[in-house]
Amino acid sequence: MTAIPGDQDPSTLQLICDNCGRTMLLDPPSAHWWSLWEQALIAGWQGFNRRVGPHTCAHCVDGG
Ligand SMILES: [Zn+2]
Repeated sequence: MTAIPGDQDPSTLQLICDNCGRTMLLDPPSAHWWSLWEQALIAGWQGFNRRVGPHTCAHCVDGG
């Protein structure tokens, strides 16, 4: 999956897990991909460091 515009504000980005569809966005929401990805890594996400992914959330990483 890819990072897509946020539901509430199309100018922001949210990250979507390719496996389960879980989303992550910054608080406050941001359109800065690298800020989002940096926080995602801290939160345990793995994947390719580009918006196009693939990306896997921490839950799915733990679950194998
Ligand atoms: Zn997931």
